[in-house]
Amino acid sequence: MMKIFSVLIFVVFFINGCTEGNNKGPEKRIYPHYDIDLRIDPQAQEIEVNGKLEINLANVSEDTLTFYLDQGMQVASFTLNGEEIAVFDTSPSDNRFMPMARKIFMDVSALSQKDQLSVIAFSYKGTVSQLPEMYANRIGPQWTEMGLYYPWFPFSIDQLITFTYDLRVEAPAQYEIFGLGNVEKKQGFTRISSSIPVSDIVVCLSEDVRVFTSEIGDNQLKIFHHSFGDTMVHDIAESITMMIRQYNEWFGDKSTDISLIESKRIMGGGYARTVGVVLSGLDQEKFYANRIRHDNYFAHEFAHLWWYKADFSTWEDWLNESFAEYSALMILRKRHGQEVFDGLIERMKKATEDAPPVWGFDRMGADHRLVQKVLYNKGPVLLYELEQAIGKEAFVRFCRELINNDIRTTSELLKILESNHGREVAENFRNMLKT
Ligand SMILES: [Zn+2]
Repeated sequence: MMKIFSVLIFVVFFINGCTEGNNKGPEKRIYPHYDIDLRIDPQAQEIEVNGKLEINLANVSEDTLTFYLDQGMQVASFTLNGEEIAVFDTSPSDNRFMPMARKIFMDVSALSQKDQLSVIAFSYKGTVSQLPEMYANRIGPQWTEMGLYYPWFPFSIDQLITFTYDLRVEAPAQYEIFGLGNVEKKQGFTRISSSIPVSDIVVCLSEDVRVFTSEIGDNQLKIFHHSFGDTMVHDIAESITMMIRQYNEWFGDKSTDISLIESKRIMGGGYARTVGVVLSGLDQEKFYANRIRHDNYFAHEFAHLWWYKADFSTWEDWLNESFAEYSALMILRKRHGQEVFDGLIERMKKATEDAPPVWGFDRMGADHRLVQKVLYNKGPVLLYELEQAIGKEAFVRFCRELINNDIRTTSELLKILESNHGREVAENFRNMLKT
């Protein structure tokens, strides 16, 4: 299903964070916290950033902190507790998700009181790099969508993991400013913040965005869009509301406000973060021509609010992708009936006849059609077989247990399966993954 849309290579990799933030006062911070002033000029493709990151380095085991930052930035200062100790790497990026980034190192080994809150302050400006088109970040007068693919803020891929943030964004008056997080319009700037730990700071600018707001229980659903008609935005909100309610019931209550941003990008696909998703390639005509396919798209992305914990850079990523896709199929079964579901499973089975095993499959080096086959077809088919073996209700309980226990690896999954359903079921499933 997903292949019909732009390739979702970058879909979920950085969605992280789970529990509600307990980030009230600086001395109590559990999560690293960014406080940033951001000025954006989409026309000139320039940004100016002044900010700080408060972090308890006792939670960082390494002696060196590593940040990535877009190479177009001219850094005026980058300090740790007031000291200029940053070392700037000039070699090309070693991370395929941030091809235009450069690394900044900070040796923190000499820091005497690691358990005190440290402050990393930074100030820089410059012209934002041009990313290859299939990357999901842009800056320009028509559409700006900035996040970790540049990254526009000092981003540590594996040392911060999740953080909270408070952002003040200024831009020329014709632009609406929004993002994934709490968006508040203030005098002369827009505040975007998240007290729920996230793994990205997504900021968008557009001259013609429209906002639709509705309720899911005690929480808000916000849809930022530019091309949906009134009926379509209502229909999308209805779909998503049903999905979130169902996932809450199956996998555990999220109880957070959720945003959907319609990206103006054609290329680059969609991605999910803890508090919402950004989707591209949506079109009113196509939406009504194939509701099931679109429900699949939405249900897959929103499922990632639950399925995101496995390491995306290893074969364990199937725990994110195949579970998100099978969750989406479960939604389709509920919403469009058993026959639709059976038809999709049949199609997926056929598509995976010659696919390599899920076990050990390295998506990083593989062709995207093969990734599609293994992670989005074969993995879900195996989960379907497992559901057949243990029963629908037990399968939902199993999923919930994986989520509640923060399962990140297949061997952890197999242990839970064995303790719930016995050695034979677990062995069979292991064999299926290896076949
Ligand atoms: Zn996905």
